[in-house]
Amino acid sequence: NVQDSGPKVCIVGGGPAGFYTAQHLLKARDDMVVDVYERLPVPFGLVRFGVAPDHPEVKNVINTFTQTAQHERCYFYGNVNVGTDVSVEELRKAYHAVVLSYGAEANRSMRVSGEGLAGVFSARDFVGWYNGLPSNKELQPHLNCETVVILGQGNVALDVARILLSPLDLLKKTDITQHALDTLAASRVRRVLIVGRRGPLQIACTIKEVREMINLPDTAADMLPADFESISEALKDLPRPRKRLTELMMKTVKTESGQHKANKSWGFRFLRSPLEVLPGPDGKRVAGIRLAVNKLEGSGEDAKAVPTGQTEDLECGMVISSIGYKSLPIDPCVPFDPRSAIVPNNMGRVKDTAGLYCSGWVKRGPTGVIATTMNDSFDTARMLLKDMDSGMLNLSVNKPGGQEITALLKERGVRAVSFPEWEKINLEEVRRGTAVGKPREKFLDVKDMLAVAWS
Ligand code: FAD
Repeated sequence: NVQDSGPKVCIVGGGPAGFYTAQHLLKARDDMVVDVYERLPVPFGLVRFGVAPDHPEVKNVINTFTQTAQHERCYFYGNVNVGTDVSVEELRKAYHAVVLSYGAEANRSMRVSGEGLAGVFSARDFVGWYNGLPSNKELQPHLNCETVVILGQGNVALDVARILLSPLDLLKKTDITQHALDTLAASRVRRVLIVGRRGPLQIACTIKEVREMINLPDTAADMLPADFESISEALKDLPRPRKRLTELMMKTVKTESGQHKANKSWGFRFLRSPLEVLPGPDGKRVAGIRLAVNKLEGSGEDAKAVPTGQTEDLECGMVISSIGYKSLPIDPCVPFDPRSAIVPNNMGRVKDTAGLYCSGWVKRGPTGVIATTMNDSFDTARMLLKDMDSGMLNLSVNKPGGQEITALLKERGVRAVSFPEWEKINLEEVRRGTAVGKPREKFLDVKDMLAVAWS
């Protein structure tokens, strides 16, 4: 039986990085067994809990991940928290190699006072809330204000802005959670300002997301023409994608500014950094934000935002910071670079730790789309295979793999969710969704997921 004598690799994290790494490994060697350990009972990481509900086409990668998980030499162990239920050291003993693909779940903080006021959220939590991440279920954002300020101008910032301003009828047909729909139905939010520390030429989102904002029904773009006055000069030298994006914003300024017929609006605010979140009279809830007015030093992608000393206050009832994420250390035996918040590695080989690898956001930091994560995971898999071929990874001893870990987990009272058990959860979610005209209605509680998995 090849499964007893072949190499055994385990992957920590069942998001895109984990599944793409597994896919490449399984394809490269027909004697390799790959086990994927995932903290939640449900797979796919940010494809399930990050990607916007109105972008269902992005989630098609789930089909590929499902094929990988159903491969005869791949096993999925959901509901297993590595670092708590089982240590990385124990995994390293049981497998020939361990790949860390556990993503970047923490938020970068704004480091300004007032960040803890009610009505201030991280985009990650807000997204997790409308996408049904169990740990964000209780977020309870009160959408009883007119203006929301989002800090950061990447695609996630635009996802959040779009969800806040989208017509309910559109969202109702997506897999957004019912509790988010109920809250959005009562929303009084009419205006969303998306604030960035640099200028229009440095904006981090892509044209598709800006176009979707422009096309929102009953929603006007509220831009400041002055922001675009000096940039037409630079236009001709820009790389094509940035040129098209800039032209689109400039066209929008021309056609939409001064139109006030729409009930709702959104707009970019450039060259502003948060200084302080301002409380209202009760001292508890956000009522505004104080921004530093910046100027640019240098030009192009490398331009730096430098404070001018001027400040500006914006009134708002909610602040959502979308300024990035960071990975957290998983286990004391795994090297971690607190400065860049990644597992230090050389092309996927974890520094100073033979047999340990990493892929995805924990390897290169939390930037890039799913396709970037795919390439990077294939790179790590190639490196691992090379180390097997060169003898750097010793394959001459048999390893017990999942058998030993399952026994350990059992001793500790931890029961894993297998892929067929996830498929039961999946079917039930789809059934609940179909009943109300949605692709799925997600379970919000781990205990409900487990009840279905083990029913
Ligand atoms: P993740 O997707 O975060 O997966 C990590 C997995 O590890 C998770 O399932 C997590 O539960 C698990 N895990 C964590 N800790 C442990 C542990 N201790 N033990 C076991 N398991 C653990 N890209 C696009 O191409 N299109 C988009 O529309 C898009 N939208 C996005 C929206 C948001 C809000 C965000 C944040 C990102 C978006 N991205 C999008 C980027 C894309 O999601 C990432 O490139 C990709 O998910 C990174 O993959 P990953 O596997 O490294 O991390």
